[in-house]
Amino acid sequence: MAAGKYMLKVFGCQMSFRDGESLAGQLQQVGYLPTDDESKADIIVFQTCCVRESAERKIYGRINQLKGLKNNKPALIIGVSGCLAQKDRELVFKRCPHVDFVLGTHQLGKLPQVLTDLSTFRHLILVDEAGQDFESMPAVRTQGVRAYVNITYGCSNFCSYCIVPYVRGVERSRELQDIVLETKAAIEEGYPEIMLLGQNVNTYGLDLNRKGTNFVSLLKTLDSMPNLKRIRYMTSHPRDFTKEMVETVKNARSICEHFHLPIQSGSNRILSSMNRGYTRDHYLQLIDGIRVLIPGASITTDLIVGFPGETEADFADTLDLVERVQFDAAYTFMFSPRRGTKAATFNDQIPSKVKKERLKYLNTIQGRNSRMRNQLLIGQDVEVLVEGVSKNNAEMLAGRTRTNKLVHFKGSKQLSGELVTVSIKGAYTWTLHGRLVS
Ligand code: SAM
Ligand code: SF4
Repeated sequence: MAAGKYMLKVFGCQMSFRDGESLAGQLQQVGYLPTDDESKADIIVFQTCCVRESAERKIYGRINQLKGLKNNKPALIIGVSGCLAQKDRELVFKRCPHVDFVLGTHQLGKLPQVLTDLSTFRHLILVDEAGQDFESMPAVRTQGVRAYVNITYGCSNFCSYCIVPYVRGVERSRELQDIVLETKAAIEEGYPEIMLLGQNVNTYGLDLNRKGTNFVSLLKTLDSMPNLKRIRYMTSHPRDFTKEMVETVKNARSICEHFHLPIQSGSNRILSSMNRGYTRDHYLQLIDGIRVLIPGASITTDLIVGFPGETEADFADTLDLVERVQFDAAYTFMFSPRRGTKAATFNDQIPSKVKKERLKYLNTIQGRNSRMRNQLLIGQDVEVLVEGVSKNNAEMLAGRTRTNKLVHFKGSKQLSGELVTVSIKGAYTWTLHGRLVS
């Protein structure tokens, strides 16, 4: 008999979504079934993010919207897990007294135990950083044709603006054979694509101190696995990204020609203050290397505007870099001070009005560039992995090119999970429109 119904509300990056899959796996293992209807749920878990204040505010707002439901249904269990849980700990109960448990990033696998213990205790909080066995956790995958596979946990880079190393701990690589086993299982379940996840995938394996185990060897091992159609990875760090990695992608069968390489700022002064460990010239050389070796590759980035001390000249350097590189897409953010990080203590914080203006300007430039990059594909036949029926138009299918561009086209939904050829007919800022060729 089912233990009841659960609802998961996931916020944040791909890693947070992968953690959500582990939470779902544990809940289903102890007999809970998923529901999309809050009023039918016996347990609701918020898998959270705290990278920017705006995310945090939104999540607290959503948790507090459940006060009425909890009053009417006191047996409902409400939990908060992930980065915000790890950062705020007891504060979660202060801000949301109707929450029953707080589960930190290192204790993800303890959900069934928490649920048992809640029959004895009113509130529970598990946020210790001591050893957790991530390998034994079951998962229910939620990303369509894409299977997320963690390759590292945590981050040791301590970029001066970023909270991640504090809430997820220092970098720990998974054993290569564990990654291979998880990938093999995903292929056997029918997943055509895997996405390798790490805050800095390029340093994979270095902490294992095992000769020959590194990101390139991992990529080559996975590329040789039969029946795997596509490999993606996220995120690369320009300091640790190498030409050998580009060559590996070029020579591989299944590794996609998409490079997500966050630059953050085009100003050397700001990059140094961010503790990023590279210069704009180094970055531009990497881009040249990619363009020479794989001319059709797509390149995307992350950018922060309004970092403390960012002058008009620094911002002009960012705009200049954006124009030089001609990114296919960029995730752009206003700097958000995070307590506990170095940059939050810097004196020369930028007024919110200036940050907003810079973001708006940058987005206008980048939007135009994205559209122009996409328009270059008009008339070309491209390989598309079909993801299913489009979310916005039930008449259309949606899929992605190897370069990670979203394409809409007409076709049978039975094509989901298949590689097809699509002729590109129209190009917009975020999507392409095409006609199925084969
Ligand atoms: N590890 C990845 C990297 O180094 O690019 C991404 C991690 S972070 C979750 C995703 C993006 O959020 C970063 O690339 C950065 O642009 C942005 N970000 C992180 N901290 C931020 C902050 N305090 N304010 C604004 N944006 C931030
Ligand atoms: Fe944060 Fe920098 Fe680590 Fe990315 S590399 S998670 S931005 S500290």
